[in-house]
Parts: sequence; structure tokens; C-alpha cells
Amino acid sequence: MMGNTKHRMDRKNPDEYARSSEPQVDVPLADIRDMVDTVPAIMSYFDANLICRFANEYHFGWYGRSPSTMIGLHLRDIIGETDFANRMQYIERAFRGESSSFETLIPHHDGSYRDTAVRYVPRKTERGVEGFYILAFDVAVLHHRFHSVFDGTAVGFWMVDFTRIRKWIAEFGPTGAVAATEALRDHPSLVGMLLDAMPILDINHKTASLFHVPVEEAKGRRFGSWCPDESHPAFRKQLSAFIGGERFFETETVMRTASGQLVDVLLTCAFPTNDLTENAFIIGTTDISSRVSKEHELAKTQADLAHALRVATLGELMASITHEISQPLGAIATDGNGALRWLRRAEPDLREVELAIERMVSESTRASDIIARTRALAMKDAHSRHTFSLNEMIEETVQIVRRQLAGLGAEIILHLKSSIPAVTADRVQLQQVLINLLMNAAQAMAGQPGPKKLVVKSKAAEGSAIVSVTDNGPGLGDYADKVFDVFYTTKESGMGMGLTIAKSIISAHDGDISVTAGAEGGAKFMFKIPLSRVTGSPS
Ligand code: ADP
Repeated sequence: MMGNTKHRMDRKNPDEYARSSEPQVDVPLADIRDMVDTVPAIMSYFDANLICRFANEYHFGWYGRSPSTMIGLHLRDIIGETDFANRMQYIERAFRGESSSFETLIPHHDGSYRDTAVRYVPRKTERGVEGFYILAFDVAVLHHRFHSVFDGTAVGFWMVDFTRIRKWIAEFGPTGAVAATEALRDHPSLVGMLLDAMPILDINHKTASLFHVPVEEAKGRRFGSWCPDESHPAFRKQLSAFIGGERFFETETVMRTASGQLVDVLLTCAFPTNDLTENAFIIGTTDISSRVSKEHELAKTQADLAHALRVATLGELMASITHEISQPLGAIATDGNGALRWLRRAEPDLREVELAIERMVSESTRASDIIARTRALAMKDAHSRHTFSLNEMIEETVQIVRRQLAGLGAEIILHLKSSIPAVTADRVQLQQVLINLLMNAAQAMAGQPGPKKLVVKSKAAEGSAIVSVTDNGPGLGDYADKVFDVFYTTKESGMGMGLTIAKSIISAHDGDISVTAGAEGGAKFMFKIPLSRVTGSPS
């Protein structure tokens, strides 16, 4: 590059180039010198031999040396051997006709080093690249402003390096964004890997205190260390938003502090534009634990209330059934006794017996009609069907009971198959079923030593959506066939109605709920509901 010199200038008094008022082909900025001298940035021009042909006055303020002393010097002699070697890549690019931007530290005459944004821009003429301009801006003030915002705000900030994520997307080829989004959707385990491939560049003081880690210790560590499995669905959406070219993303999720506690956070991300020189984005985390815990208390109170209401409804239901059917039952008994008496006579009156039996049949039909009608009425009460994503419902439900489960020491592991079509069902009722299974499993494991794994899986198979909840607790032993019975409980404060209600909800959806032994010895509850069912009333 330095060999293909276009012009070789004779050595002149350097000031002759810089100060001459004659138009100079090789000193393109000379005629606007006065203006250029007022620009608060270093501006210089180097020819094909890397000899300085122009330097503006700002050099004096920065290096403390007159720009005229630089004219005629080689770039290496101005910036020193080491910096020169580092700049070679940008010089080569300039001679290929490309501009480059980078940030670096440049020594100042006051002894400090300044954060500087540098640009190398080729000077192109019809003869090709004849040299290049160097522009350097002091960005220390900008950095200072950035850091006063970064460090001083009440939002926890993380600056993470996404270079490897960008490489990962690039590996998918020209349709990288679409393919990468699909891969993330089909392989949820990628999320953890990608979060681990993002090193932390910086955190602010708020993040340091919220996540119990000193700023310097966090730097260089994997961002994924702060993201428990429960947060992966949220980060999958965040990564998909980034890959999809969105500028901003916001959601609520849960993260883990260095000391292992879970914190509810509002997650916000501002993604850079498609500028390939950017390699970092900033993730904001705001602690919303107190708000979320109030919401959870509220949700729990509502759930308790709904539960109490159901119990009350069930009680009322039984009272009304008892009341309504005691009358036909009484009539059946009377007719039965009557029929017996007619039969036991010396001369049985078969006509009377026949009439009594006919009345018994019609009374018993009435009794079963009453039961069917009351049941239909009770089920209709809470009935409302919508079409929704089963996985989102599962993720949301896990969020609702996350605190209670964590309180019992259960570790939730989600394996949700993304290929499940939407289901049409009563979302609240299915949530109730799932909450019941999750709480039962966590309670069963609570008394046990060792890890308490609660695995929730979803998939679609044979026209049904299937959800399973597996624990590694004590299992059900010989009681497996009793657990769905009404009032069956082994808990001191249990009611033995959770699974009974779950079963009636799932049957109302034309589905099925069952239990088997889990692979690790615990219990595995599984329910399935048909996928393509048309909205309709359960009977
Ligand atoms: P409750 O929770 O009020 O006891 P349920 O109908 O929900 O009522 O559960 C009935 C019983 O089934 C429980 O008391 C418990 O003995 C048993 N059971 C339910 N889930 C599990 C499980 N995952 N592991 C072991 N036992 C379970």
C-alpha cells in the first residue's frame, strides 16, 4: 500500500504546505483552514506515504505541539510505534477506500488519557485513494455524561456484549434472522446458551446493590448467571425481538442475585440500530418485587376466595341435591314397601305391584334428572371458553405460584414444546388445575431432603394437548387410585377436593387426567385436552 505511492512531494518547509494561500492539490483543507481550525476535534491529512500534510490548530490544545511541527512527519513518528501498529488495520482499510470508526485512549499533554472517537476516511480522487483524513473527537465529556446517567439512576443497568450472538445469527446465512428466530422457538434450551455467551461489560451501582455483586466482580462474567430457568421464556422473547430488528423490548420476569435470591424485575432493553460497529446493548432492570408480591397476595386471596366459594357452592349443591332427591327417594321407598305388601298377600295383587314398580321407575328417573340438571347448572356457572396459547398459560401460572413453590424449596423446570397449536378452553379453570398439581407436588416434596425437582412439560400428540407435572417426592404408593376421590386427603389441613375438582374440569373439557409413578420415584400427573374441539358447553 505504501509502495503504490501516487505522489512524492519534495521536502519543503512544513509551513509552506500548511500556511500557503495558493490552492494546493495535496493540501485540500488549506483553503478552509480558518474554519477547520475552529473545529473542536483533531483533523489531519496524511498522504500515500503516510506523511502528514495537514493538521488543524486543535492539535495544539491536545498534544501541546504546534500543528506546523507535524507537517512532513511520518504518522509513525507522530503517534509512536505501538499506536502505529494498532492503527495499521484502519490505514489499510482507508487505502481500500473504506472508512473506519473506533474508540481509543489518546494521550493528552496534561498527562491524562482521553476517550477518543476516531475516524479514518480515505481521500478519493479520480486517480484512486490519494491519502486519508484522520478525525478524532474527545468523547470523555460524552462518556462522563453517559456514566453520570448510567451510574446515577435508580434503574439497574447492565451493559452486555452481544458480539457472539451476532456471530451466531450470521452463521445461519443470508436469512439469518428468520432462521435464528425459528431455532430459538423450537429449541428453548438455546436461550440459556445465548445468555451465557453474553459477557457483562459493565453494570451500574444500582445493579450492583440489587444483585449483590461489586461492579468490578461482575465485569466479564456471563449474563446468564443471573438468569434462572424461569426467566428463559422472557429472555427468549427479548432475544427474538433483538433478532427481529426491534428497537425496544419490555417485559416482566424474575432474575437471581449473586446470593441466590429471586427478584422480580421489569426488564427493558434498548437495542442498537444495525450499525455493525456496535457490540453492546444495555439491559435495564427495575426491582418490582414489592409490587409483584402484593399482586401475588391478591391473586392468592382471590384463589382462596374462589376455592372457598367452590366449597360453599359444593355444599349448597349437595344440600339442594339432598333436598330435591329426598322426595323421589322417599316415594320410591314407599312404593317399594307397598309393592312388597301386595306381593306378600295370600293372593298377591299383581296389578298393584305393577303400578307401584312403574311409579318407582319414574321416581328414580326424576331423581337422576335432578342430579344431571343441578350438575349442568353448577358447571355452567364458571364457564367461559377462549382460544389461547397453552404454553403462555403455563408460563403465566408458574409465575403466579412461583413464590409459594420457591418457599417450599421446589425448583421449577419447564420443557414446553413450541409446536402446540392454540387450545380452546376455559383458561382460568385450566390454571386452577395446574396450580393444584404444582402445589400438591411441591407440598409432597417439601419434607424430603435433596433437590426438589418440579418438571412441567407440554406437547401435542394424537390430537391432544398434553401437560405433565412430575415431581421427585415420595410418590403415591398404593393410593394412586384414591387421589381423585372426593375428600381423599393425607394432609392435616387438606380438603381432598383439589384433584376431584381438577378431574371434573378436565372431563368438562372432554379430556382426561391421570397419575403414574415418575421416573425418579415421585408422582407424574398428566392431563390432556383435545386440540380441535369446537367451543361448546360441558354437560
Ligand atoms: P388436598 O391437597 O386437599 O389433600 P387433593 O385432592 O389435591 O387434596 O389431593 C389429594 C391427596 O393426593 C393429597 O392429600 C395427597 O395425599 C395426594 N397427592 C396429590 N398429589 C400428590 C403428589 N404429587 N405426590 C404425592 N401425593 C400426592
